[in-house]
Amino acid sequence: MGSLDTERATIGWAAKDPSGILSPYTYTLRNTGAEDVYIKVLYCGICHTDIHQIKNDLGMSNYPMVPGHEVVGEVKEVGSEVSNFKVGDKVGVGVLVGCCRNCRPCEADVEQYCNKKIWSYNDVYTDGKPTQGGFAESMVVDQKFVVKIPDGMALEQAAPLLCAGVTVFSPLSHFGLKQSGLRGGILGLGGVGHMGVLIAKAMGHHVTVISSSDKKRVEAMEHLGADQYLVSSDATRMQEAADSLDYIIDTVPANHPLEPYLSLLKLDGKLILTGVINTPMQFLTPMVMLGKSLYLPLSINDYISRSNSIKTTLRIETIQRTSMLLVMVALFLTLFFFFLSQLLIFYFLSFPEFFFVGAILCREKGNHGELHWEHEGDKGNA
Ligand SMILES: [Zn+2]
Ligand SMILES: [Zn+2]
Repeated sequence: MGSLDTERATIGWAAKDPSGILSPYTYTLRNTGAEDVYIKVLYCGICHTDIHQIKNDLGMSNYPMVPGHEVVGEVKEVGSEVSNFKVGDKVGVGVLVGCCRNCRPCEADVEQYCNKKIWSYNDVYTDGKPTQGGFAESMVVDQKFVVKIPDGMALEQAAPLLCAGVTVFSPLSHFGLKQSGLRGGILGLGGVGHMGVLIAKAMGHHVTVISSSDKKRVEAMEHLGADQYLVSSDATRMQEAADSLDYIIDTVPANHPLEPYLSLLKLDGKLILTGVINTPMQFLTPMVMLGKSLYLPLSINDYISRSNSIKTTLRIETIQRTSMLLVMVALFLTLFFFFLSQLLIFYFLSFPEFFFVGAILCREKGNHGELHWEHEGDKGNA
């Protein structure tokens, strides 16, 4: 038997400054408490918010920081009060790992509005230690914030549902936009946009992808099954499409004008902002009610089950970290698929023991879309 620290040591890929470089970082996890689930991480999605946090774009990053909030893993140990999970279960963890449990939002099962909610990483847990996310070998998470992955669902498919998926599903559900026959717009075709097209199509909606250029037309129409493609700079087509949409899910994670998209909405149409944007946004047109993206942890179970039943298959790229060769192949595939705006999933089978430097391009093109991974101690060589 080793010490508690030895037993709970884990290793993650941490940002140690805003450079965008992730490197191995060893830290300790708390012992499995009565309400806790100890999880071996198998897959973790990369969300654009991870990139914002790694690079301190939001001005609130604390280092070292192990990102990752689309976590899928296997239960290795459960606390004495845990009844919903058992060893061997496949489970997921999203953006939250704690809340006060007593306030009005907590009692209404909308913990995302709790003033004392605890984020999966870059936050401080009740024991005073930093929370660390899913780019790691393992996590210890309160059972309230763990969801079961249904039998038969591919685990790598489940990971993006835990943030990108619920980011789309939750507002459609909250704003009464789940019925078939609606006409929806998806603005931006990155990870969340990709998910938006698939979920909206699965709900029976007529889906228009709106993008700043023609580059993603084939991806939208042929690969994802969108019904229409609209280039936002094409004034004639934008004018023709005015007053045609019941909702738009705006996934653009950077400041942009809203008026062109508000004009596409029908009366009482809804523009749903899901991108994390670090500067104030402005708009002049008060003709619609602006909704905001909701993360509903307790709706994830229902949502995950539904996702399994509708058999939506996500287009993802999985990177397995087992050997240098595989890393390089994965890098090549990642660079290739980057241009198709794929979702990326990291498979934490093992950490390579040798030095490597890899550039992993993430699913959102832009200044924040590049991360570097390097071995501890060789930062100067990058
Ligand atoms: Zn996210
Ligand atoms: Zn609360």
